[in-house]
Amino acid sequence: RKVDLVYTRVRTEEKLLLEALRRRDCAVNLVQDTGMVLSMDRQRVTEADTVLMRSMSFTRARYLATFLEMKGLRVLNSARTISLCGDKALTSAALAAKGVPMPWSFVAFDEDACLEAIEQKGYPVVTKPVLGSWGRMVARLDSRTAAEGVLSTRFGTGGAQDHVALVQEYVDKPGYDLRVYVVGRAVGGLRRRSEHWITNTARGAVPERYEVPVVHARLAEAAAEAVGGDMVAVDLLETRGGDIYVNEINHCVEFARSIDETGVPLPDLIAEYVASGAGA
Ligand code: ADP
Ligand code: ZN
Ligand code: MG
Repeated sequence: RKVDLVYTRVRTEEKLLLEALRRRDCAVNLVQDTGMVLSMDRQRVTEADTVLMRSMSFTRARYLATFLEMKGLRVLNSARTISLCGDKALTSAALAAKGVPMPWSFVAFDEDACLEAIEQKGYPVVTKPVLGSWGRMVARLDSRTAAEGVLSTRFGTGGAQDHVALVQEYVDKPGYDLRVYVVGRAVGGLRRRSEHWITNTARGAVPERYEVPVVHARLAEAAAEAVGGDMVAVDLLETRGGDIYVNEINHCVEFARSIDETGVPLPDLIAEYVASGAGA
């Protein structure tokens, strides 16, 4: 099998993926996302049959996946999955459409309309950028004054494309959230423990080993299926009452900070999936 690994930076993840693919006799080319210029036609641009999309830029990942699929390549994850997972409002819509349990959410496009909807729901609520990661600009609103401040920034800065507010139920977690890796099927996961309510490892949460119970595995697989994800990290929020919701789905799985603790051999599992021809 011939694989193009499209990257932004060759991080630990990309190095491990490259080695795992080569161990499976895949011929791998590293292709930097910023260097690609794609014509709008069906002309082939590469010898590869499969593209492993590891671009860290949502803009480039989505467009490149779309054009490479148009040119007949098998792209993992698919353009559809990237488009849905990269935008949290669209992820929520895809989950809701399939009845996958998630925190209640709404989107609003105007400061006053949004504030009114929040007032009706009551505090606390969470708002986050529809495009974003690593816990950046995720905000918990505990009061009307906090909501006014955050919403005036959201709607008073940036351009029309930024004037959308995603608001969610605040889930009172028991000091951690859960991540389940789905590579065709649920293959393992990790618990992310933190004193802070934002539990990204990029924000200092500590990854812990977590034996994924069957119900969590099935929920993560249902979430992955709702967005057509071949290889995704599904984040789950557990309530103190033991209910479980899907919070988000990450299409470019990161594991460098957690692979030692979790013991989940993600590079090998992903390489195996790529080499098997699944998801075409
Ligand atoms: P990102 O893509 O930046 O990781 P997330 O939606 O995953 O965005 O939010 C980051 C973290 O914030 C989550 O891992 C979780 O700890 C916390 N969080 C996000 N949304 C909620 C929520 N609705 N209720 C409680 N905690 C949340
Ligand atoms: Zn994310
Ligand atoms: Mg997250």
